[in-house]
Amino acid sequence: MQTDDDLVWICQYCGIHNTVWLDLTIEGKQDFMEECRICCRPNRIIITKDNKDNVFIEARPSDE
Ligand SMILES: [Zn+2]
Repeated sequence: MQTDDDLVWICQYCGIHNTVWLDLTIEGKQDFMEECRICCRPNRIIITKDNKDNVFIEARPSDE
């Protein structure tokens, strides 16, 4: 079983692809802030898992 992964998210301000390392052994939802590597603006990153252990990543503007 895979225990970690690099996931891609898209900056909500400049549209650049960023990657974030994720520990897949953490259960449930993860919700944290990441700064874009290009424009340095914080994006809210939300990680969810379904009941088949598929991982979904979503980026939102931090001021939403
Ligand atoms: Zn950006």
